[in-house]
Amino acid sequence: NKFEQLGLNESLLLAIKDLGFENPSEVQEKAIPLLLEKDTDIVALAQTGTGKTAAFGFPLIQKIDAEDRTTQALILSPTRELCLQITNEIKQYSKYVKGIHTVAVYGGASITEQAKDVKRGAQIIVATPGRMQDMINRGMVNIKNINFCVLDEADEMLNMGFYDDITSILSDTPENKSTWLFSATMPQEVARIAREFMRKPLEITV
Ligand code: AMP
Repeated sequence: NKFEQLGLNESLLLAIKDLGFENPSEVQEKAIPLLLEKDTDIVALAQTGTGKTAAFGFPLIQKIDAEDRTTQALILSPTRELCLQITNEIKQYSKYVKGIHTVAVYGGASITEQAKDVKRGAQIIVATPGRMQDMINRGMVNIKNINFCVLDEADEMLNMGFYDDITSILSDTPENKSTWLFSATMPQEVARIAREFMRKPLEITV
């Protein structure tokens, strides 16, 4: 099992075994060791279905401090469906790690319920940009101390008109965090986000 050579801890390897993943996908093989070893920003060109959720999810789970219940990571994704899917995957991946709490934040559902879940102590927030911005405006969430920000399907988010929300949200996060951007394509707006909000990102292509 090649997952054992990527530097993942025992809890993650157990979850991977339960899921029946036999070998890492290409993006996982490239991203996981890099993200575990280095405190770096990355831009990964990867389509859906390539296993990109685990490529950022495994290192994220391993790097989160489960004993600290403040929000440490924000994952932005374009739609409610994707938000729920990522949340579900992260929960499965972290099932053997005690104390990790992941909350999905998206439009079309009660904002007060979501805020309550965040307040209870979620280290990982998976959010759509519009609802996230709304929660920030209402003071329902604090992302000023996060260590990790994942932009998933960045090209899709920008296609949907989330440029202003994304840049505003990123401006609310600390500069000394790691940003991991995943996108199927690299249009100008995505390149601009990378240039303006990321620190010399390493590039991964699959
Ligand atoms: P994603 O590209 O993240 O949407 O993942 C696509 C699907 O592949 C999801 O259902 C994952 O659970 C699954 N998957 C991710 N990594 C692996 C792997 N290494 N082996 C088998 N299935 C995987």
